[in-house]
Amino acid sequence: MTPLETRTLERLITRRNHLAGLTSARKERRWVDLMRQVDAAIGAIEVGTWGICAVCHDPMSPSRLAEDPLLTVCLECLSEADRRALERDLQSAGKVQRTLLPPTHVAQDGWDVAYHWEPRGVVSGDHVDLIPPSAPGAPLHLVLGDVSGKGVAAALLQSHLHALFRALVPAGQSLPDLFKRANELFAEATSSVSYATLAALRLGCDGSFSIANAGHPRPLLADGRGVRPIEGGGLPLGLFCDSVYTERDLKLQPGQTLLLYTDGWTEGARGDREFGIGRAAAALRKGAALPLPELLASCRAELDRFLDGSPRGDDLTLVAVRRAV
Ligand SMILES: [Zn+2]
Repeated sequence: MTPLETRTLERLITRRNHLAGLTSARKERRWVDLMRQVDAAIGAIEVGTWGICAVCHDPMSPSRLAEDPLLTVCLECLSEADRRALERDLQSAGKVQRTLLPPTHVAQDGWDVAYHWEPRGVVSGDHVDLIPPSAPGAPLHLVLGDVSGKGVAAALLQSHLHALFRALVPAGQSLPDLFKRANELFAEATSSVSYATLAALRLGCDGSFSIANAGHPRPLLADGRGVRPIEGGGLPLGLFCDSVYTERDLKLQPGQTLLLYTDGWTEGARGDREFGIGRAAAALRKGAALPLPELLASCRAELDRFLDGSPRGDDLTLVAVRRAV
């Protein structure tokens, strides 16, 4: 059995037990139908025919199967009508995801925050949110995350993260407590199969801020003399239920710029060469005096210049933070 088959079998057995509980309490047609499909998939894994298209008998894409282990027909064999319906679904998912995004440029309590969010396909696994203060004088929260995997599955988990942080932040916990709780809930929801790297900032009214990092690429700070990464961090969210997180307290002076990003920026690759942290730092240094939207455009353009026509492999998000003078 391949590792994907082993993992899928475990997932399907859990799902089957859950469905058995539901149908024993009340027999609903859709649950009985679903149980039949789950049973068929379990049987197919056991006899070695799982993942083979029922129409053309070619193997199906492992990433599609990881998203939906109940698939029986490959993309090529879907009827034209099925394909159009799938495309429509994807477009509406993209629209829903965009409605969850905050305004792209926000000035609040002396903070200037702007971001650039760019999915690779129709939807994104990158999560960016700016959560307004729950009361006057309370901190503003900035969250940037990246869910493992791609496409619709990653986008679904992105919206789950969005809801988690929106629900947890107003309780006013410290960032380590907030991360601890979000990690427990995310791990519970994803059964530790998926994970998310995430960095969050809690922005005070006087330029002070706390930062916590769960396995996310290190943010960069441009302070006029140079650019340096902000160290520190714990494990990504969703891997282990008992992960512990820390925070750092820092202050942003007027004129300094903090840049957060997802690895779609630094890991953009041309052949076997990556854009990398060195070029990222240079891009920030070069644009550090520009207004934030222009700085973001310039950082993005540096990646395009490096890629020189090579396709971008991942979702990409850049977030810049500055203190108003
Ligand atoms: Zn097929």
